Amino acid sequence: MLHQRNLHLPDYSCVLCNGVHLETRDHLFFHCQFSIACWRYICPTFTPQLNVHRNIMELKRHLDVPFHMEIIALVCWSIWRTRNDCIFNNLRPSLYQCRHIFKGELNLVFHRAKRKTYSNFKVWIDRFR
Ligand SMILES: [Zn+2]
Repeated sequence: MLHQRNLHLPDYSCVLCNGVHLETRDHLFFHCQFSIACWRYICPTFTPQLNVHRNIMELKRHLDVPFHMEIIALVCWSIWRTRNDCIFNNLRPSLYQCRHIFKGELNLVFHRAKRKTYSNFKVWIDRFR
């Protein structure tokens, strides 16, 4: 988006795959090999789709839980934080670190879960502890 708005940056390539691809929204969150590995951690059958909307629908179908949007947002947030740690803190992108971020954020969301989804959420979250 910054490139399209003529805001100059030294590099627009994706840091999660060593600058092989341009960092677009769809690449960063769904098509990058790093991101695909992150998604397959929570959804082993995930196959990237053409655009963000189809990816969300695909993940919704595979996750099959009422809190799928919370999960999707947390994975995107974890990928974004991993990307920012690489750019701003010179940390090498790591699936382990991305999963650690995801688990930490997931626990915070769990504590705020509504009672009606609490038990379903607990069963799901226990898979990742
Ligand atoms: Zn990439």
